[in-house]
Amino acid sequence: MIDISMPITEAMQVYKNKPEKKPRLTAAATHEKNGVYESEIHMNLHTGTHMDAPLHMIADGKTMKDLPIEKMISPCRVVDVTEVLGGITKEDLKDKGIQKGEFVLLKTKNSFSDSFDFEFIYLERTGAAYLAELGINGVGIDGLGIERAQNDYATHRTLLGADIPIIEGLRLKNAPEGEYILVALPVSIPDAEAAPLRAVLLEKGERI
Ligand SMILES: [Zn+2]
Repeated sequence: MIDISMPITEAMQVYKNKPEKKPRLTAAATHEKNGVYESEIHMNLHTGTHMDAPLHMIADGKTMKDLPIEKMISPCRVVDVTEVLGGITKEDLKDKGIQKGEFVLLKTKNSFSDSFDFEFIYLERTGAAYLAELGINGVGIDGLGIERAQNDYATHRTLLGADIPIIEGLRLKNAPEGEYILVALPVSIPDAEAAPLRAVLLEKGERI
């Protein structure tokens, strides 16, 4: 089993290094004072490994409760595009053998850095349109955003408009290109536009 999630700590990388995106963990009760220990967390839902729902980009769009959980335990293909600089295009994806019904995880240079890169690798609009046409179950990437430098948010809008869930903030350094079973279950926050999740890859055919 390969854990492809980003640990949530106060030192973790966050989008554009914005201080307000750093998680804050505080002790609400301590053994000394209360006889038990309880923590509180204050965190933007787009920090760390998380899933985006359509409401993130589309006014009155669907929320986490509307996303089919069946797509989150799915046949999966890790696609190695670590040689790509900038945006991942249709050209970069078309010979990767991607099949309808797969959850496609894009392994890029982003997985090899633990600090935020303002020039992070992203899925460019032609790549998003290609994946949407194929009818994939979902798409994940190892950047804290799936796009940048597209001021109409074409990638988010194309995928979310086609009801394709997006996972951002994966860690794919230890996942070689190939086929797996993905288990990526978001925390249940029904009315939210995103939710943190823990994601693992299982070998295809492995018994759980
Ligand atoms: Zn997000």
